[in-house]
Amino acid sequence: MTPETSPRENLYGLLPEALAARLAPLDPRPFRARQVFAWMHRHDVLDPAAWTNLPLRLREVIATRFRVERPRVATAARAKDGTVKAVLDLPGGGRVEAVAMPGDDHDTFCLSSQVGCAFGCAFCMTGRLGFERHLSSGEIVGQVATLREATGLGRGVLNLVLMGMGEPLHNLDAVLPALAVLVHEQGFGIPPRRITVSTVGLPGGIRRLAAEGPPVRLAVSLVSARQATRERLMPAARRYPLDELAEAIRAFGAGGRHRPTLEVVLLRDVNDSPAEIHELARFARRTGSKVNLIEFNPVSGLPFAPSPEDRIERALRILSGAGVVATVRRSRGRDAAAACGQLAFLEGKDGAG
Ligand code: SF4
Repeated sequence: MTPETSPRENLYGLLPEALAARLAPLDPRPFRARQVFAWMHRHDVLDPAAWTNLPLRLREVIATRFRVERPRVATAARAKDGTVKAVLDLPGGGRVEAVAMPGDDHDTFCLSSQVGCAFGCAFCMTGRLGFERHLSSGEIVGQVATLREATGLGRGVLNLVLMGMGEPLHNLDAVLPALAVLVHEQGFGIPPRRITVSTVGLPGGIRRLAAEGPPVRLAVSLVSARQATRERLMPAARRYPLDELAEAIRAFGAGGRHRPTLEVVLLRDVNDSPAEIHELARFARRTGSKVNLIEFNPVSGLPFAPSPEDRIERALRILSGAGVVATVRRSRGRDAAAACGQLAFLEGKDGAG
């Protein structure tokens, strides 16, 4: 079943070619679809009555036959550092969270791609929700316009990370058109280099993203370069041996794209030993990747603790000593439960917070 259950199809999020197919019975000229696309995505005007370069009769028929809807804010919380976590009601039913983070020279929005997630990573609250459904492309791109409207952020230079609820490469049928709308010059016009797709590490999805997607950045939530540690923390790792994953990451970066990033949430006594970090350095060199070490947010109900500062510093020394570019991402928005692994709000679900 598609996410859109209403008998009237939602036009929001469709690319011009798809719009042209829907509008052909009403007006077959291709420029009509381009006009509608620009109103929805470039200008964020969702009421067909206001699409003034279309004939009045056509606007009336579109309004009768279709919906034009993006997510709406249900609740929003602002942390002391200005990060806003918004709970969004989706046009197709259900809720996700999206996060807006202000920065000095650019803002960053973190978007969700699924309601819940099927992958059940041990350190992630979203994984505890289980999988409910995929988002449509419109429900993904609409988070950008809704966050802009609700927070006032993201109107200048904007970075996007598909790193919220869900595994984007598990929903590529919607994520690929969503990326196309986001980068389209008559859509959101966001440069591909400012978009990062984050994955738990699905080799087939990485290959498809490389073949069919715009040249966005890739971030792989590696967590560990040791198969046993990875399997313990990420059930999906059992299906995808590190060798296959390494080859997919290497090939992605070798295709003239930006160097992939290996994301490693550092967990005390789990993946922060020197042996773990040396193995991580070898994996990074082999795949041509850089490493982003992430501070773990202590979340109630999860049996992990953050790595102490001295071990984070030790990991950085080991990585840079091995010639690997490495950074640390400090946690943001912790008081609004907006940091990584904290996107899990659904009432009545285990671990909701
Ligand atoms: S870390 Fe990502 S893939 Fe793993 S359970 Fe959480 S949302 Fe899903």
